[in-house]
Amino acid sequence: MSDQKSSQNYSFQAEVSQLLHLVTHSLYSNPEIFLRELVSNASDACDKLRFEGINHPELYENDPDVHVRIALDDINKTITISDNGIGLTEQEAIDNLGTIAKSGTKDFMSKLTGDQKSDAQLIGQFGVGFYSGFIVADKIVVESRRAGAEEGQSVRWTSGGTGDFEVEQITKASRGTDIILHLREDALDYLQSQKVKQIVNKYSDHISLPIQMQKEVWQEEEVAEGETPTGGQMVKTDEWEAINSASALWTRSKSEVTDEQYVEFYKNLTHAYDEPLAWSHNRVEGNTEYTQLLYIPSKAPHDIFTREAKAGIKLYVKRVFIMDDADNLIPNYLRFVQGVVDSADLPLNVSRELLQESRDVKLIREGNARRILTLIDGLAKSEDEKDQEKFKQFYAEFGSVLKEGLGEDTGNRDRILKILRFATSTNEDITTSLADYKARMKDGQKAIYYVTADSLLAAKNSPQLELFKKKGIEVLLMADRVDEWAMNFVHEFDGVVMQSIAKGAVDLGDLQDAEEKKALEQAQAEFKPVVDKLTEALKDKTKDVRVTTRLVDSPACLVTNEGELSPQLARMLKQAGQAVPDMKPTLEINPEHPLVKKLAETVQFDDLANVIFDQAVIAEGGLPEDPAAYVKRINSLLVK
Ligand code: ADP
Ligand code: MG
Repeated sequence: MSDQKSSQNYSFQAEVSQLLHLVTHSLYSNPEIFLRELVSNASDACDKLRFEGINHPELYENDPDVHVRIALDDINKTITISDNGIGLTEQEAIDNLGTIAKSGTKDFMSKLTGDQKSDAQLIGQFGVGFYSGFIVADKIVVESRRAGAEEGQSVRWTSGGTGDFEVEQITKASRGTDIILHLREDALDYLQSQKVKQIVNKYSDHISLPIQMQKEVWQEEEVAEGETPTGGQMVKTDEWEAINSASALWTRSKSEVTDEQYVEFYKNLTHAYDEPLAWSHNRVEGNTEYTQLLYIPSKAPHDIFTREAKAGIKLYVKRVFIMDDADNLIPNYLRFVQGVVDSADLPLNVSRELLQESRDVKLIREGNARRILTLIDGLAKSEDEKDQEKFKQFYAEFGSVLKEGLGEDTGNRDRILKILRFATSTNEDITTSLADYKARMKDGQKAIYYVTADSLLAAKNSPQLELFKKKGIEVLLMADRVDEWAMNFVHEFDGVVMQSIAKGAVDLGDLQDAEEKKALEQAQAEFKPVVDKLTEALKDKTKDVRVTTRLVDSPACLVTNEGELSPQLARMLKQAGQAVPDMKPTLEINPEHPLVKKLAETVQFDDLANVIFDQAVIAEGGLPEDPAAYVKRINSLLVK
């Protein structure tokens, strides 16, 4: 290799410098992970070559066997990780090894505080890829030739891991990349081949291509003739041997894989450091053939509710890596699932566009959804305390996301409903399933009642609940943002109607006795003039006014008309910038309430009517349309 062009100096992007400082200055509790990161990059590079090689076989340069090699050099105190994968051009080396493109790492940087102890912990959570080499090295040299490029068009990238790096053009015969780590004095352990083998075994055993080291043989000490040798040493030969089992973990049968291996694979796959809550590994045969290995993480990613949230399924076709984040392979409401799908039927050159239309993909997506729902249901139903704990954690992290499925996945709506848990008016822990509720229903109760609100407290205190409390009828309290929207799609559970107590007229059916019905009819007759006057006074704000039976302590409440959006949902959609049709609620008044009784005789009818209406809006968690007018009216009434 000879230099053909003088080298160029570049500064690291500010975030990289910051990261490097951290890597080298904070105590890294787990220095050995540098090997996992670099081997994983080498393996990625080989995957990329395989992928580009599908349409451009010439990139293989007649050397189709890809591998990763780790070479130890005691004399120069270096460890070199080489691959004959895709390689880097000069520009790619500058871009990819000088900046941070990964959003995860950027997010990591934004969380840094400068407090070494907590920052070191953070590093543990994120992983820092290529730069982790600087945990053990005070100088890293990268030499690379892009597949298909001429030997003279190779690049050498050198850095001491501080502010800058150097790039020069070199000549390199072999395809791919060598990462040469010049070890720090305190990291010379990594020159021991046993130690390196152990680490590779621990982290990278599943990697589907061979990771090789030089074969070593025992050479006895040379002694004079007649004497027996008392010592000797291992010496390296020219032969390379694989030190990993090199079979993709998901291709093995379940019985051959230990829990530890599943967990380690998850960590490799996701670059996450949490333990998965549960996993499901199956070979599916039938209309389409594929292997699925799906994990439920124990933590939700920070961006799970943003548009950027990505599905975590990697797609392979016959062991060849095709793409990350294959969002067609899992419904959106299960986007937290991580894992691998390896299809036997899809074409290797499948594109995202093709995936959208493929019948095989549709079958795989449905199969994946069913598996995950079964897995969750299994945890929910399990008697095992550990599973119960896991289910609880699952629900806290992903329950809201799962509910999106009620609208998104009609076919699995019933399965999802079975998994959901709610707080109720008699048990505020979020532990009641619909089946539990149904089992506790009163004699004569014909519907499952629920109320949605912005918070559990608001739900608990909602005026609509008063009658139900009085009669001792349990009501589900729903306070998740998504509930209101999701419940639009749910009309019954296991043959029982689900009824919002804030929508339409309450019909308690047999739960209401003849006397109560008669009392209502009387009140309706008695209040007819008041109701007519109210209807006229509030005609711009309400669709209808009627006497209610659902209130006990409050003067009035708003009721959403059957088939219309509730005020909360309307507010939510408006906040999200969506067009919402103008809807007027129905006002229900409580004939027993002193304020309502006052309506019949007051001279300030208009003020009182509007105040009663605005208070009903406030009780819903809304704001009066004209707060100043509301205050003025209240004050005027107070003074009188
Ligand atoms: P990530 O692997 O998550 O992208 P890294 O910090 O580990 O992040 O690597 C940064 C980038 O450097 C990679 O995305 C890749 O473009 C490039 N790179 C690193 N190692 C190699 C390699 N052995 N061969 C080719 N490119 C590499
Ligand atoms: Mg990496």
